[in-house]
Amino acid sequence: MTNALILIIEDEPEIAEILETYFAREGFRVICAGDGPTGLAHHQRLRPDLVVLDIKLPGQDGYEVLAAIRRRGATPVIMVTALAEDLDKLQALRIGADDYVVKPFNPLEVVARARAVLRRTLGRGPETILRLGPLTVDPQAHRAVVETGRGPVPLDLTPTEFRILAHMAASPGRAFARADLVDACLPEGEALDRTVDSHVSNLRRKLAAAGAEGLLSGVRGVGYRLEALDAP
Ligand code: CA
Repeated sequence: MTNALILIIEDEPEIAEILETYFAREGFRVICAGDGPTGLAHHQRLRPDLVVLDIKLPGQDGYEVLAAIRRRGATPVIMVTALAEDLDKLQALRIGADDYVVKPFNPLEVVARARAVLRRTLGRGPETILRLGPLTVDPQAHRAVVETGRGPVPLDLTPTEFRILAHMAASPGRAFARADLVDACLPEGEALDRTVDSHVSNLRRKLAAAGAEGLLSGVRGVGYRLEALDAP
């Protein structure tokens, strides 16, 4: 866990620096962003294990940044707020933060909270293994396997194909718009609908070759869906 990558989104340089110092001292890798758009770009590109997110940011505030992170997936987020009102805390947790700290904070406490959140989220253990019919996706091991009559066939996927598969497998039966998949799964410079189409088409071909054809289908006018099948 200690080599986990922490993204700190905080516009006050002194606070960012203190947090960075403490996290780094505890063995974490750290990247900082001084505003929401930069933070979201780092999040997209670097896929941090946890985000420490200030609420009061210039321009796009922490709530908007949190909502954007949540549209992409389940990266754990700890909100940092100077506002001690309970309402704000509740709002942050309701829209999907994993924890919050109130300024002025003890940086050691922030690190301790981050460890606790990471233990909770990384330690989700076997439940994070996703099973759909013959397909098993293990996001932590970065492995996808199709069970066939001849035994298990591992899929040889590119990182982007794997992300698309794992993202869709987490919500079986849901129709994903191309834009959702672009946001959640594609590296930044590649963010185009037709790029998603080509990744998905390769993914379908590999699934079919492994004996799982029909599992991933197009949804006309929308995008794609992984069928919700019970594991055998
Ligand atoms: Ca601030």
